Amino acid sequence: MRRSYLTLRRGSKINKKIVNTISITKKQVQKLAEETVDRYPVEACALLLGVYRGEKVVVKKVRITENVNNSSISFALDPSFVYRVLLEGERMGLEIVGIFHAHPALPYPSCSDREGMKLWPVIWLIAQNEPKEVFKLFAFKLGKEEEVEEVMVEVK
Ligand SMILES: [Zn+2]
Repeated sequence: MRRSYLTLRRGSKINKKIVNTISITKKQVQKLAEETVDRYPVEACALLLGVYRGEKVVVKKVRITENVNNSSISFALDPSFVYRVLLEGERMGLEIVGIFHAHPALPYPSCSDREGMKLWPVIWLIAQNEPKEVFKLFAFKLGKEEEVEEVMVEVK
């Protein structure tokens, strides 16, 4: 448990570091898009395992989970799921580099998201949860003064 905590804490370097891009594959985006459509109108959510490469965060694994709140305006993750993903990451030399969830409205961090971003200082990937619209991803992190900064999404 202690080591897992350390793994998570290492993610906090993104506030100080110049992480400005999250790199994700088309296949991973497809997985998130399908989950978003399947769960609609409930907010879909997932954890992203990956590595830090200079200014980039590279997503290696997408781990989808259910929204414990079963809500279209908020989300929560099952702590045992989070723990399993932390352990899986440790086994593979990966960290939790991002949290994904879908929004019914504006794909911008809400007040509660911003609180969550303080606890989980990783990249927050937010999708527009509107099936009729083109699936779009937006990424954010907290800056030095805990202000929301947009991060570039690179799809490969
Ligand atoms: Zn949100």
